[in-house]
Amino acid sequence: MRRPLIAGNWKMYKTTGETEEYIHRLAALLRTQEEAEVAICPPFTSLQAASRALASCGREILLGAQDVYPEEEGAFTGEISPLMLKDLGVRLVIVGHSERRQILGETDDLVARKVRAVIKHRMTPILCVGETLEEREAGKAEEKVVGQVRADLEGLSPETVADMVIAYEPIWAIGTGKTATPEDAQEMNSLIRREIASLFGAEASARIRILYGGSVKPDNIASLMEMEDIDGALVGGASLDPESFARIVHFQG
Ligand code: PEP
Repeated sequence: MRRPLIAGNWKMYKTTGETEEYIHRLAALLRTQEEAEVAICPPFTSLQAASRALASCGREILLGAQDVYPEEEGAFTGEISPLMLKDLGVRLVIVGHSERRQILGETDDLVARKVRAVIKHRMTPILCVGETLEEREAGKAEEKVVGQVRADLEGLSPETVADMVIAYEPIWAIGTGKTATPEDAQEMNSLIRREIASLFGAEASARIRILYGGSVKPDNIASLMEMEDIDGALVGGASLDPESFARIVHFQG
């Protein structure tokens, strides 16, 4: 039985003060025990403030980061290591988000190194995969996504893969207001699960959580969550407001 995960990706939004205020408002809206596991991924500059606010908010909300550099320390100006994230209480790390792949030129090779670094430090990677509109229109969406899954998970053991999270995020649906239909998202998530089965075996495929991301909102979460292979959501824009995020956590329109 896979527990759903609803994770908010704040992208480059919110100062430390806004982060603390958000956490208090969100905590007031959540139940003591939620059906879904809940995570927020603030920018690096807000992680420490978030970590403190989460420790005293009275609700189980996991702390996530939006990226990591795959070395423990060294001359990597501007980068943040897995050790530093772990030190702040980070439990989940988004890796390979399409904005980093597209705007900052991250390759599958770098993404794979990041996945391994996160696992080595006993945090959970949320690996993002997804196709562009051009790739979808050219009938190449499946090839692209399967290729990313193969490249980014290469060399991992079935046990580690079972405990990680993949987010299928079609790039044309991110921040655009266009959501994949629940059926399209289910089709791709199911393909990813079959690929995990063929690469890592039945147990890893049954246990790994596969999310959908791309313009998820309170009014479309319920229909997405009805799909067999959608185990939750990675939410960008609609996670910035605690009321809207709480409604998504409750699968409520
Ligand atoms: C994201 O940033 O991962 C995302 C899915 O964004 P949005 O919900 O705004 O489309």
